[in-house]
Amino acid sequence: MGLISQDSFETPFPRDLVGDKSYPCLILNADYQPLSYFPLSLWSWQDAIKAVYLRRVNIVDMYEQCVRSTSTEMRLPSVIALKEFVPQSRSPAFTRFNLFLRDGFKCVYCQSPKDLTFDHVIPKRLGGQTNWKNIVAACTKCNFKKGGRMPQSAGMKLLTKPYIPTIHGLQAQGRRFPPGYLHESWLDYLYWDLELKS
Ligand SMILES: [Zn+2]
Repeated sequence: MGLISQDSFETPFPRDLVGDKSYPCLILNADYQPLSYFPLSLWSWQDAIKAVYLRRVNIVDMYEQCVRSTSTEMRLPSVIALKEFVPQSRSPAFTRFNLFLRDGFKCVYCQSPKDLTFDHVIPKRLGGQTNWKNIVAACTKCNFKKGGRMPQSAGMKLLTKPYIPTIHGLQAQGRRFPPGYLHESWLDYLYWDLELKS
C-alpha cells in the first residue's frame, strides 16, 4: 500500500558538466545564497552573459575559459549574483526528492537507506492522504511488512514523525548530501557553514 513508482526520482544535480564543456553558472540571490538548491540554480553561460550585459547581475567568480566576439573578449562567469532580491516561496514543493531529503534518505521505520520508496502512514483505504503529514520514506521491506495497516497494527514504530518542512530546514539537510560534482568556485556559496564547523 502506498507505493509510488520511483522512475521520476533523479538527482537534481547535473553530472559531467565539465566533460561536455557547458560551463554552467551558479545563480545567487542578492543575499549571496543560491537562488535554489533543489534543483541547484544553474544557468547556461549564454544566459549568464546575457544577464551580465543587461546589468541584472554582478559577476562573483569566473572560469578560465573566454568567449570572444569581434570587438570584445570576456571570461565566462561561474558564479553570478542577482542585483535585486527575489523572495523565496515559504513552503517547499511536495516532491519525491524533497520528501526523501526531509527523511534523510532513510527508512523512517528501520533507518535503512536501501530500496527507498514511500509509505502512507495512515493507509489510503483508511482515509490517509498524500501529503507531507502522511507520507514518509520507507524501504521496500518495511513497506511490504506494513501492508495496508496502521504502524501499530503492524507492530512497527515511526522513528521520526512526518511534518511539513521549511525551505531552510531542507537546505540545511541538503548540505549533508553533497552532489557528485560542483565547480570549485561554487563551494563557498554552498558549503560555507560546513567549513566553519570543521
Ligand atoms: Zn525499513
